[in-house]
Amino acid sequence: DAVVHWFKCDLRTTDNKALHLAYEKAKSKGVPLICLHIISPQDYKAHMTSAVRVDFVLRTLEVLKEDLAQLDIPLYVETVEKRKDIPGRTFELCKQWGASHLYTNIEYEVDELRREALMTRKALEEGIAVEAVPDTCVVAPGELSSGTGNQYAVYSPWFRAWLAYLHKHPHQLEVFDRPAKNPANARKAYEDLFDSTIPDAPRNKMLTDEEKRRFRSMWPPGENEARERLSKFLQERVHDYKDKRNFPAANNTAVISVHLTSGTLSARTAVATARDANKSKKLDGGDHGIVNWISEVAWRDFYKHVLAHWPYVCMNKPFKPEYTNIEWEYDNELFTKWTQGQTGYPFIDAAMRQLNHTGYMHNRARMAVASFLAKDLLIDWRMGERYFMEHLIDGDFASNNGGWGFSASTGVDPQPYFRIFNPILQSEKFDENGEYIRKWVPELKDVQGKAIHDPNGRGAKGVKGYPKMCVDHKKSRNRALARYKEGLERD
Ligand code: FAD
Repeated sequence: DAVVHWFKCDLRTTDNKALHLAYEKAKSKGVPLICLHIISPQDYKAHMTSAVRVDFVLRTLEVLKEDLAQLDIPLYVETVEKRKDIPGRTFELCKQWGASHLYTNIEYEVDELRREALMTRKALEEGIAVEAVPDTCVVAPGELSSGTGNQYAVYSPWFRAWLAYLHKHPHQLEVFDRPAKNPANARKAYEDLFDSTIPDAPRNKMLTDEEKRRFRSMWPPGENEARERLSKFLQERVHDYKDKRNFPAANNTAVISVHLTSGTLSARTAVATARDANKSKKLDGGDHGIVNWISEVAWRDFYKHVLAHWPYVCMNKPFKPEYTNIEWEYDNELFTKWTQGQTGYPFIDAAMRQLNHTGYMHNRARMAVASFLAKDLLIDWRMGERYFMEHLIDGDFASNNGGWGFSASTGVDPQPYFRIFNPILQSEKFDENGEYIRKWVPELKDVQGKAIHDPNGRGAKGVKGYPKMCVDHKKSRNRALARYKEGLERD
C-alpha cells in the first residue's frame, strides 16, 4: 500500500494542505508516501502558459525533487501529451505503485474543476480514495456570501467579509507542517522513482540559450528562495509599500507573484507571515504598509472566488454580459506596436519592454498598458490577456483575467467604462522623473524634463529612433466612449 500526493500549482513542501494530509495518512497507515507531477503539453497550450513559466516550473521541480529525496520521499514527473488522459494515467500510476489514496489541492479553473470532480467520481470504480482539498486561497471559494446569500462581485464588501471570516476562524491562518521522513521505507521499492529525471520542456515551450541565461539569473526557483524573498520584503520594504507601491521605478513591491502562482509560496503563509511582522499582530490594523499588502494578496483570493462562482469567465466571455457586443478592432499592426513597446507612448513602451525582457511587469504598468490596448487602441482585450499569459512568468488565469476585465471595464470592477486612463498623465504621475522609462526605453535616456513623457508630442523636439505616437489619445478616447456606448445599446 502507498499514499500519493499529486503536485500541481503547489510546488512546495511547507504549508501544503494536501501534501500534509497525504503524509499524515501514510503515517497512520505506516505506508510510503509518493509524490507525482504531470506535465501536459496540451494543457500548457490550452492555458497559453509562457515558456518562461514552464522553465521556472521545471527548475522548481528539480529543487523539490532534491528536497523530498532528503526526506526519502520520491517525486516522479511524467509528460502526458493529452490533458484528457491525465486522470486515467494518474489512476494507472497509483495502481502500479499499489496506492489506495490520492491527495491533491483543488484548482478552480473550469476544466481543472471538472477534472477534479470526474476523478473524485471515478475513484469509486478505481478503488482509490481521491481527496481534493481547498488550499490555494487563504479563504476557500464558497465560504463567503453576502447577507442575502449572494456572491460578492465587488471587492470592498468581499474584502470586509474576508477579514471577518479570518477573525472568526483564525485557525485558517495556521500553516501546515512540512512532511518529516517518509513513514515507510520507499528507497528500495521505489528506486526507479528516485532515479527518474525531470523531463525537458515540451518543444513549443523551449527557451533559447540566451533566454535561459537571462531569465534564470532573474528568477531563482524553489520554496526557500520564496520564503527568503518574502522575509526580506517584510524586513526592508513593506513599511513604505502603501506610499510607494504605485511607482514602478521604486521597486517597492514584493515581486513574489511568480511564487504564489507556482505555489512555491502559499498565500496563507504570505498573509500569516505579514500579520506576524505587524507589531499589532493584526490583519487590518497597525503598520499601514503591512495592512495594505495583505489587502493586495487578498485580491488574488478575490479573483479566484470570482472564477469559481462565475466559471463562464474561463470561456472567453466578459464578466459583465452587457459588454459582449462591443465592436473591437483587430488591427495587427497596432497590436504588434503594443506588444513590442513601439507605441510612441514612453510609459506604455517601457512597460511592454519590461514584460518582454523579464517576464514580469509592475502592477501600475499592467493597468496602464491594458487600458491603453482596450481603450486607446480599442483592440479586443482578450488579445492582450493572451499575450500576457504567453509572456508572464507569474501568469495566473484568475488574476490576469480579473486585471484585464478591470482595465477594459468588462470585469467585476464597478467603475464605469468612461473612466479612461490618459497614458501621458499616468506617466507623469507614476514615473514623474522618467526613471522607469529611461531604464526600459534607452532611446530616451537623454531626454530631459517633462518631455520624457511625451518626447514627440506638443512642442517637443522629437527623438530620432523613437516612434511617433501611434494614436492620438484625445481622438481615441472619444472613439472608445462612442464604441462602448454603442455596444451597450446594442445589447
Ligand atoms: P505585490 O504588490 O507585492 O502584491 C503581493 C501579491 O498580491 C502579488 O504577488 C499577487 O499575488 C497579489 N496581488 C497584488 N495585486 C494583485 C491584483 N491586482 N490582482 C491579483 N493579485 C494581486 N497577477 C498575477 O499573479 N498573475 C497575473 O497573470 C496577473 N495579471 C495581471 C494582469 C493585469 C492586466 C493586471 C492589471 C494585473 C495583473 N496581476 C496579475 C496582478 C498584479 O499586477 C501582480 O500580482 C503584481 O504586479 C505582482 O507583483 P508583486 O508580487 O510585486 O505584487
